[in-house]
Amino acid sequence: MAKPDNYVPTATEQAFLDTVENPRYDRQIINGLNPFFEDKAPEDMKSFYTPDEIADLMSLRGTERDVEARMPVKITRHYFDLAKKSAYLQKLVKASPDETLNLAGSEDPGYQMDFAPVEGLLHKYEMGLMYVVSTCSAHCRFCYREELIGRKDIERQDGSVAKKGLAQIDEVVAYVRAHNEIVEANGGVHPESGREKLREILLSGGDPMLLPNGKIAAWLAALSEAGIESIRLGTKELAFYPQRFDDAFLAMIDNFHQAYPDVGFRLMIHFNHPDEFLLKGADGEYLKNPNGSLKWHPDAKKAMDGLTARGWMNIENQAPIIKGVNDDVRAIQLMQRALYRVGVGNHYFFCGRDIVAYQAFNVPIETAWNILNESQKGLSGVETHARLSITHYKGKTEVAAVTNEPIPGVPESENGVLIFKILRNAADARDRGKVCIVGRNPEALWFDDYEDRVIYDEAGLYDYGRLRTKPIETQATAGTTAST
Ligand code: SF4
Repeated sequence: MAKPDNYVPTATEQAFLDTVENPRYDRQIINGLNPFFEDKAPEDMKSFYTPDEIADLMSLRGTERDVEARMPVKITRHYFDLAKKSAYLQKLVKASPDETLNLAGSEDPGYQMDFAPVEGLLHKYEMGLMYVVSTCSAHCRFCYREELIGRKDIERQDGSVAKKGLAQIDEVVAYVRAHNEIVEANGGVHPESGREKLREILLSGGDPMLLPNGKIAAWLAALSEAGIESIRLGTKELAFYPQRFDDAFLAMIDNFHQAYPDVGFRLMIHFNHPDEFLLKGADGEYLKNPNGSLKWHPDAKKAMDGLTARGWMNIENQAPIIKGVNDDVRAIQLMQRALYRVGVGNHYFFCGRDIVAYQAFNVPIETAWNILNESQKGLSGVETHARLSITHYKGKTEVAAVTNEPIPGVPESENGVLIFKILRNAADARDRGKVCIVGRNPEALWFDDYEDRVIYDEAGLYDYGRLRTKPIETQATAGTTAST
């Protein structure tokens, strides 16, 4: 059960919060497979699953291969309308028996809880990530937060077992203040972890856009008061329910900017495929504007126009490359082009993580690199900012290069090599730029598929252990009270 939040807003916060409107939204969500099993889905949605698909999924119910025990099913009316015309979007959102054929994978990818000094806050790098909600408007089958969304028990470092909890404002603010005071008193670095000021926070989940505006506003204001310089909000709502970015939301975000003009705000959006925001004709081809650029879906366009009109706000897209969804050069190329044209940066594409059942979703690492590399050949320099990242337990790692030729005299390089580069070590910024070179393995889905062909590893990707016995910097909150 959520703990009561004892946070008391300042006068500035309260004045901002008093301006916020909280409309109700009707996403027309279909929750779970039962409406399809019991023939209770809206008439036009009933055929989303064929009778054979329904029979197969029903036969797994209650067994170890129950697809909803792994990841709950959820879809909005908006996404259904898009997906009925797109096999790729159907793959993203429709449950399939294939998902549970092989349940190998990690119950807590990246050992996220090792970085949680207080419940719901992961303190990595010089930034924090918070779980503020545990669901989204619809659910991607490949979600790498399936343990949070499925409310699964996770084993922590100390051996205890519990579901992941959500962040509470009072606890997070107390932690941020305590960490930053220690850093400040110690000449700019934390004496134990060597990390600098915690200056950036990502609101995540789940999708924070499921929270009412008032709750989002409360987080934005409290983090600003705590000294956070830049706030990100991660969302896939532009794909699932773009109507959420309405005048009330835009007014809230404008008023936030007015109250805290020095705090940066960045929307990290998540489009996987151009079918999620581009308009298609009856022949299945994308429609064009008179100048030849691709036409946006009116709902996504309206939302995007409202967001990009706020020049002080940055918007960036990041998405994994997933089997059957977007492992396609043309789709990835069109997406980068169409997003950049309207003012959205292309941040990362990701290799799939080692979630439970990852073999159903992940594209081989070298294939993903090739898709992104090929897709960028037809783009301009500014359209090609995205890198391919794979999240090692150590931190964000780039798949920097894949070569085809052997390196003379170097064993394991006969078929070429792959170079990983650490972008950010979750616990120690000083590792940035270190590389690991492995012999190629075109079938590799995860790091361990290269274990037998490591050539050079200054990054330490292959001697990583779960060394600490408690979350780093638990002492940052020692002696502070929960409320500030
Ligand atoms: S939007 Fe993100 S968090 Fe939500 S289900 Fe999809 S991948 Fe998971």
